[in-house]
Amino acid sequence: MSFTVELLPAFADNYIFLVSDSDLGLAMVVDPGDGDVVIRALKQRDLHLSLILNTHHHSDHVGGNDKLQREYGAPIIGPAKEKNRITGLSRAVNHGDVVTFSTLRGEVIATQGHTAGHISFYFPQIKALFCGDTLFSLGCGKLFEGTAVEMWDSLKLLRALPDDSQVYCAHEYSENNGKFASAIDKNNEALKARVAEITALRKAGKPTIPALLGNEKLCNPFLRADQSDLRRALAKAGVAPEDADAAAVFGTMRQAKDKFGMQKI
Ligand code: ZN
Ligand code: FE
Repeated sequence: MSFTVELLPAFADNYIFLVSDSDLGLAMVVDPGDGDVVIRALKQRDLHLSLILNTHHHSDHVGGNDKLQREYGAPIIGPAKEKNRITGLSRAVNHGDVVTFSTLRGEVIATQGHTAGHISFYFPQIKALFCGDTLFSLGCGKLFEGTAVEMWDSLKLLRALPDDSQVYCAHEYSENNGKFASAIDKNNEALKARVAEITALRKAGKPTIPALLGNEKLCNPFLRADQSDLRRALAKAGVAPEDADAAAVFGTMRQAKDKFGMQKI
């Protein structure tokens, strides 16, 4: 069985993810903010859409649901805690639930913080993590509906996944995220290498996604709020005291990032 994961750019900086099973001619889509983008891609590839996954209720992630469901009759699976905010949901899922596409099994991980019910999907067979607006390369989602404690707990759940997981996050924010990360974590060699890679990819007009989770663990400051070298650097810069607990350090970093002001979501 051969599966591919493709990025479909949408709006200014979103990615919609198209997972296809070429043997069966079937596809699954994650966070289809724009239905037309997905329909065009399916037609080009001669695929039938059999499943829609949503990570959270924001329109740039669910805006194409209705059109795709009408066109293909595909069921929509999304977060139980947001079932009243996503119209047409066929199945509402919680942490620990399993979704299936063809022979693939996806595990639902509760990752609230960006929104109150945000979920992520991890497909171990293809090493793919679809984390919506929770984890970005070198960054994380804004806290619109959740607390720093919730988001930190969510990020720790994602951090516990295997290093070889591919992070399919829903926005191309890596370049700006890298500027903030570099400003607060100046001596991190892994971060410098990732920033150089991101700069080269963007210069070539290529996506920086997926990111390798094992590398994000080394260079994404929002996954490193409990690590002593970063905490020392933050204390030195006057951002957060070294003895603050990890969720508080995370929250302070997130607030500093909001002020840094380069990321919309
Ligand atoms: Zn969002
Ligand atoms: Fe978004």
